[in-house]
Amino acid sequence: MLVSINEMLGRAKAEGYGVPAVSAGNEVTLRASIEEAEKANSPLIVLVGYYMTDAVNYYARLIEDFSKAASVPVTAMWDHSSNFKQSVRGIRAGFPSIMVDRSSLPYEENAAQVAEMVRFAHAVDIGVEAEIGHVGGADENMGENSDSALTVPEEAVRFVKDTDCDCLAVAIGTAHGVYKGEPKLRFDLLKELAQKVPVPLVLHGGSGTGDENISKACRMGICKVNVANELMKASYDALIESGMEGNKLYQFWPVLEKGYRKHVAHLFEVCGCAGKAWKADQHLTAKLMK
Ligand SMILES: [Zn+2]
Repeated sequence: MLVSINEMLGRAKAEGYGVPAVSAGNEVTLRASIEEAEKANSPLIVLVGYYMTDAVNYYARLIEDFSKAASVPVTAMWDHSSNFKQSVRGIRAGFPSIMVDRSSLPYEENAAQVAEMVRFAHAVDIGVEAEIGHVGGADENMGENSDSALTVPEEAVRFVKDTDCDCLAVAIGTAHGVYKGEPKLRFDLLKELAQKVPVPLVLHGGSGTGDENISKACRMGICKVNVANELMKASYDALIESGMEGNKLYQFWPVLEKGYRKHVAHLFEVCGCAGKAWKADQHLTAKLMK
């Protein structure tokens, strides 16, 4: 069943678990992630962004059809829209939610641009995730010239008030992409953010962060964990392990899918949302159809 990001994350926040937001930019991975969610009786968030495809309208329709047919709650987000055009296209395509990422801009510009998109999105019942502080790339993050900036709790509280965003990505020590070592998460900072920020918190850069770190972060207030690289790696490893050559190549997609599925299933356990699926609320479903 297709649900809104607010219903998805509102429940996660209230019950103290996280939901993996998995990169699924094609039919194979979309189907695989939903079927694994059904097997685990878990809610699921699907991520698609321009970094994976520019076929925004096509994927919004595909995800909507698949999500409505699913026996578990599913929602989707148009991830990391980083300028006006990308954000508006996500809204037009009909994604249930979009991420409006202006986190590399100074506070005032970030807040002003997010607030503008929230106005558009909320007018058509689409949720918005924004980011304060900045989750940079892993390579820069590990070096001296990091472009990551930890989230300042007071700024985060003000940002939610200024923008009316539905959920907030925070920077507590993770980074996008592949780490050179396991990152040190600032759980003290997360604790403070979870106490002060009124909307559900989101962790970007979930790949390579370590199961224990992710589980702990979800118990402490992270409601959505974005994972991309790790899933691609699991798919790639499955292909390498099965020694793709000759006619074995005919098994290319099934083998890739197997690797992807295994890791998605693992993420439900790590985030603590396995078994947390709920039944359709007719009232909400009807609202979504408007
Ligand atoms: Zn991200």
